Amino acid sequence: MTREINVQAAANRFLAQISGNLGAYMEACLHCGHCADACHFYAVTDDPRYTPAYKLFPMARTYKRSKPPLSWFGGAPKVTEKDLQEWEELLFDSCTMCGRCTMVCPMGIDIASIVAASRQAFVAAGLGPPDLLQAAENARDKGSPLGVSADVLADRVEWLADDNEVDIPLDKEKADVLLTVSSIELMKYPDSLVAMAKLLNHAGIDWTLSSKGYEATNFGFLSGRSDIAKIMIQRIVDAAESVGAKTVVIPECGHAYGVLRWAGANILGKPLPFEVVHITEFLADLKRRGKLKLKPMGDAVTYHDPCQISRRGGATQAARDLLDGFATDFREMTPTGNHNWCCGGGGGVQAMSRAAGLRHKVFKLKMDQVEQTGADTMLSACANCRLTMDESKEHWHWDKDLGSLVEVLAEHIDESNAAA
Ligand code: SF4
Ligand code: SF4
Repeated sequence: MTREINVQAAANRFLAQISGNLGAYMEACLHCGHCADACHFYAVTDDPRYTPAYKLFPMARTYKRSKPPLSWFGGAPKVTEKDLQEWEELLFDSCTMCGRCTMVCPMGIDIASIVAASRQAFVAAGLGPPDLLQAAENARDKGSPLGVSADVLADRVEWLADDNEVDIPLDKEKADVLLTVSSIELMKYPDSLVAMAKLLNHAGIDWTLSSKGYEATNFGFLSGRSDIAKIMIQRIVDAAESVGAKTVVIPECGHAYGVLRWAGANILGKPLPFEVVHITEFLADLKRRGKLKLKPMGDAVTYHDPCQISRRGGATQAARDLLDGFATDFREMTPTGNHNWCCGGGGGVQAMSRAAGLRHKVFKLKMDQVEQTGADTMLSACANCRLTMDESKEHWHWDKDLGSLVEVLAEHIDESNAAA
């Protein structure tokens, strides 16, 4: 199907975005190419089009055209329809907004933020992967990208609570902590919610889910739909305010944490009325305070750092603090922590069916990393990474186990030693 492309709308959006640090980044690039080897898409293809700096082009062209001296003489060449068509794949399918390129850039250029801003211009022009955009509209209209409405949430909570004999509070009038959940967990990995409930109950936390705002993921942000991004954040704010929660816990979802914790206030245009904490941070704090008692686990395990929790989120240490003294045969990957390779499905790439082949190629990097540790199981703390990895594992017929850190912790709660 041919799509009409509104080039002027894209140019207007680029111009609106080019202020402050984004404009400075356009000036700063040295074209040195150091960022190429840091990007998993370049690393597995050797295709120079996947050099991160190349992704600056549409915004940089608009920027140069708007600045003297070129603007005095009618400006540099305009961004064209052909440019937008060519760069669509580069700004959506082949950037997971992982931020690894920024770690090596001598100018500290934040390519991931430029990609997020550029996606808004592409969507204004009428471009963008249809399935990613549909996920964002589902979130706006139904409550979640996978169609988890408030009724579906209530049904699943009741089913999970009964089946697992665990208390999962929904819509308590007041609570100290509002727990959010990703619809990927609810629909594909429901044990994740059960595990969080068991751990929070074990530690004696006063918490609830809320049907006013439960969806942690933000496909509005990932798809370039800033209007939907704002709606999703506002729902969580409304839910937290209605129960009086001063802490919002983000589940095992990387981008959900990054968007609310680091971009939420800017998208909303005012401070968030609560603290945003990733579930691994929340549990690590409970463990430090002696409220989370665990039986040791001897399996040989390694840990995949979700980019938006570790490198871009700043919560790298939380998972290690949880694993310390608990996973007695823990083996770090190389590289790890803030330098870890992305799973290949962040930034909404997991939701783009047309990107599956490239994602599977990228996952080979992860498979090599895990093989080198000799561990049988890779744990992570992001349901989106987990889904990406499960699909690629199946594609390659790989025989390692993939699991959730939070679920493994819940399986090892030491109830004989429960917190007072
Ligand atoms: S943010 Fe990640 S995926 Fe995007 S260009 Fe940089 S290294 Fe590549
Ligand atoms: S490493 Fe930084 S300065 Fe060098 S080409 Fe990449 S983005 Fe530009």
